[in-house]
Amino acid sequence: MESMSGADAGSAKRARLIDGRATAAKVRTAVARQVAGLSERHGLIPGLAVVLVGDDPASEIYVRNKGRQTREAGMRSFEIRLPATTSQAELLEHIVRLNADPTVHGILVQLPLPRQIEEPAVIDAIAPEKDVDGFHVINTGLLAARGTGIIPCTPLGCLMLLKEYVGDLSGLRAVVLGRSNIVGKPMSQLLLHEHCTVTVAHSRTRNLAEECRRADILIVAIGQPRLIKGDWIRPGATVIDVGINRISLPASDGSRPRLVGDVDFDSAVQVAGAITPVPGGVGPMTIACLLRNTVVAACAQHGIDADGLADFDA
Ligand code: NAP
Repeated sequence: MESMSGADAGSAKRARLIDGRATAAKVRTAVARQVAGLSERHGLIPGLAVVLVGDDPASEIYVRNKGRQTREAGMRSFEIRLPATTSQAELLEHIVRLNADPTVHGILVQLPLPRQIEEPAVIDAIAPEKDVDGFHVINTGLLAARGTGIIPCTPLGCLMLLKEYVGDLSGLRAVVLGRSNIVGKPMSQLLLHEHCTVTVAHSRTRNLAEECRRADILIVAIGQPRLIKGDWIRPGATVIDVGINRISLPASDGSRPRLVGDVDFDSAVQVAGAITPVPGGVGPMTIACLLRNTVVAACAQHGIDADGLADFDA
């Protein structure tokens, strides 16, 4: 563990890169070990069902990666692919069936859903103990009130990176940009449980740059390509860039469209103490945490103590 988040790291050096791929690989190894132990000692093979409605190309890629990594960890993977015209009632029927299936321990419905389907109705229908995305109100309530329940994968992945690269977060000033149910809100709850002093900023925040400059830890999840500039960052701060934005570079550049974060990496890396790259930062952690949540859910459903993942627990 190395403390990187104080304002004492100096601005002359380039920031240390936070390697999400490496940490995610460690999480997946820990998960695979746990899965092997569950199978050997309890005859239990955790199963994850992913439901994809429609043919959004980005969602297709996520679902394929989730299935592959689930199988690589030794778990059962179920993929339910439904046409874009699927009605809400039809989707809910699938969820009722998956809730009742004892070989399925985790259910994830890939978002976004087609317009005719209301997301909250779908999330409410998933059994809370199988809600490995952590979006059901039972799980969001448990996180807010007790710091327990199934924790949403992306903020959990961010917290794991912070714990690995910063260590003890207690007393640090954390600024979370974005207040979505998927990232910003649960992230702020997790950081509060870690005893950070937390500010949540959003599109109505006045003087965003000034708020950012106060942060020892800056978590950015706003979906605005490269909005956060180096001079918005406190020297030595730890920056976690959750954003994934596909941008097209000018034709003269000759490059293909590429992925960038919400942080302007080139200027931020000159100022921050540590920073996640995009890609290769938070992204790989999200699927690794999904696998971890599935194992934890399977253990809870069978009354088994989920030890062995302790190194990477929030
Ligand atoms: P979202 O639901 O669209 O929420 C965006 C949040 O950012 C909102 O709270 C919004 O404020 C705020 N915001 C938007 N523009 C802003 C601005 N100019 N200044 C300040 N705040 C602003 O997005 P999300 O689902 O949280 O995702 C955010 C980003 O993370 C996206 O790029 C997404 O692709 C990425 N993401 C990555 C992963 C991963 O695995 N790495 C996972 C999930 C999401 P209001 O509430 O006021 O509208």
